[in-house]
Amino acid sequence: MVLTGKRALVTGASRGIGAAIAGALAAEGADVAITYEKSADLAGRVVGEIRSKGRNAVAIRADSADVAQVRASIAGAADALGGLDILVNNAGILRLAGVADIAIDDLQALLDVNVRSPIVATQAALQHIGEGGRIITIGSYFADRIPSHLVGVYAATKSALTAFNKALAREIGSRGITANVVQPGSIATDMNPTEGPFYEPLRALAVNGRYGTPDEIGDAVAFLASDRARYITGTTLTVDGGANA
Ligand code: NDP
Repeated sequence: MVLTGKRALVTGASRGIGAAIAGALAAEGADVAITYEKSADLAGRVVGEIRSKGRNAVAIRADSADVAQVRASIAGAADALGGLDILVNNAGILRLAGVADIAIDDLQALLDVNVRSPIVATQAALQHIGEGGRIITIGSYFADRIPSHLVGVYAATKSALTAFNKALAREIGSRGITANVVQPGSIATDMNPTEGPFYEPLRALAVNGRYGTPDEIGDAVAFLASDRARYITGTTLTVDGGANA
């Protein structure tokens, strides 16, 4: 187990990719705090599974669109776990709309949850994370290739994260903390279900013609969180089954 003794916070981890990341970090020995917005029961289930593996775990309700709640969740996680070594900025939302006609409320929500929240969480986490620490932010393969006009603004929020990550890596490198982005391809979750009009064209983009699983993102994050990835920083790992190849 490569993360024994590490303490991690994964945002938006009551279900989907975040829940798998939390499980993957715990499987490698980390204690894990998770945040969620609405799904208290599901968050409790994730915490229960981690505790059943003998690790410490806690769920904190925190709306990523609310700066005060984001800051409080970082402080709460560090308090519950006795410190913080790893932050995974995973919480994100998708609003399907074109650039030309997206409603201002949807634009604001995307910016608040997908861009402002990872930056605010990182600011707060850096008060706790020290040498050997990790900040891993979940972007999207849509940052590099936009297959539908309906994901344009969402893609722009994810593209912002790669510039943020490069700047962050430079700022914190001397502290022995790495910063990286993981860009999932199409992963079967509530956000990107395997039924409906988008499934078939997105599935066909991957070189082997299948959606990824949340666990396949969890494995990539667990690697970047480990000491084996100590020289990897300021970069992007795209885990998309070759869809952008
Ligand atoms: P889901 O919609 O399946 O799950 C979203 C998770 O984030 C839930 O745990 C949800 O909590 C939480 N969340 C949503 N909004 C907030 C909020 N305002 N405050 C706190 N928590 C919130 O998404 P995925 O698992 O598919 O996506 C996870 C990340 O991966 C996102 O950043 C997404 O953009 C990215 N991604 C996903 C891809 C995919 O194909 N699925 C592809 C590329 C990137 P609750 O249950 O309480 O609502």
